[in-house]
Amino acid sequence: MKKYKVPRGTFDILPEESFKWQYITKTFRQTTQLFNYREIVTPIFENSEIFERSVGDTSDIVEKEMYKFQDKKGRELALRPEGTAPVVRSFVENGLHLKPNSAKLYYLGPMFRYDRPQKGRYRQFYQYGIENIGSENPFIDAEVIAFAFHFLKELGLQNFELQINSIGCENCTKEYDIALKKYFSKHLNELCSDCKTRLEKNPKRVLDCKVKNCKTIAKDAPSMLDYLDEDCKTHFSAIQKYLSEMQIPFVINPKIVRGLDYYAQTAFEIIDTNLGAQNTLIGGGRYSKLVQQLGGANISGIGFAGGFERLLLSLENENIIFGMEQKPEVYFVNLGENTKYESVKIISNLRKNGISCEFNPDKISMNAQMKEANKKGVKFCLILGENELKNNEIILKNMFTSEQQNVKRDKIIEAIITSKKS
Ligand SMILES: [Zn+2]
Ligand SMILES: [Zn+2]
Repeated sequence: MKKYKVPRGTFDILPEESFKWQYITKTFRQTTQLFNYREIVTPIFENSEIFERSVGDTSDIVEKEMYKFQDKKGRELALRPEGTAPVVRSFVENGLHLKPNSAKLYYLGPMFRYDRPQKGRYRQFYQYGIENIGSENPFIDAEVIAFAFHFLKELGLQNFELQINSIGCENCTKEYDIALKKYFSKHLNELCSDCKTRLEKNPKRVLDCKVKNCKTIAKDAPSMLDYLDEDCKTHFSAIQKYLSEMQIPFVINPKIVRGLDYYAQTAFEIIDTNLGAQNTLIGGGRYSKLVQQLGGANISGIGFAGGFERLLLSLENENIIFGMEQKPEVYFVNLGENTKYESVKIISNLRKNGISCEFNPDKISMNAQMKEANKKGVKFCLILGENELKNNEIILKNMFTSEQQNVKRDKIIEAIITSKKS
């Protein structure tokens, strides 16, 4: 028989792991409530032009990593490689800037990149993110950063560092690009082949290169912060002031550039200080032209995204408790043929009253059923045999204390609720 496997670079989230994912999702949604962000759900595929126009064709994503395909009518589509462009597409298409309470959006879901699979990097990966569209006020930048910070704290994470930077606007970038080109040209032969192309099209992206040689050279490259114009300087220092007032610790890292073309001014990352090279938990920044590029007004936005997979690693490294694994409160033990209809009735009634109950009709003996109840770690067993049926009773056993009592059948719910409290 042929054996089937998940496609290369993808994985299953199994029941024994899924409660950890739910813990992250739940904590993220709680944070969205605190900051009043509302969910937006976009399709997992879009017209590929959305990404080509916005993400920029010098980025690795569009050049090499996008899952592009034609549908039966020959439309050029792509599985979304990131979340921001689809959200902005929808924002523009639905005129959300005119609707109340619609500038603050969050999303959760799978993204796709045709990357070489390696530890912690997958072709289908899961991201959470927020976007705040329409204001350039530095308070918004600080609040978006605060959201990310708060979220990680709520999860229980300890060892992370917030790094911020300003990559300037179009006005200040011109001079900076010239300075960068001049600097890197002196080291042209030492750069990787990708960076040689980048240097022509978008020299800032050389700063972002993960190749060791390029990294070493980039260390002494001119700093964007020395090229900020007055507006960008004021904007950046306001953010720092707000963050300090909110008691959010940060460091300035002038090497953060963000990989995508549409970013301007604020860029930030939160890194796990325990992880090695691949240590970015959350990356975010302000985008000035994206809304316009996708057919909208001349407004800017700011957002961030983070991946579930790496966050999960960080949480496991720090031995975070992910909350309780899902298990039933009650295990129902049915003894015999004559009791089974009454059993079904009781089980159904428990669930109607919000008490979770597990029953295995394939286990017959008392022993087998009690064993399974123990394995599942339930607190209560309800046991119904011929005697109990006759007396209109049932046995309620507390599996933790081994105490048991006979309960009248119309008092089961009450008895369980009372015992739960003790
Ligand atoms: Zn500027
Ligand atoms: Zn390079």
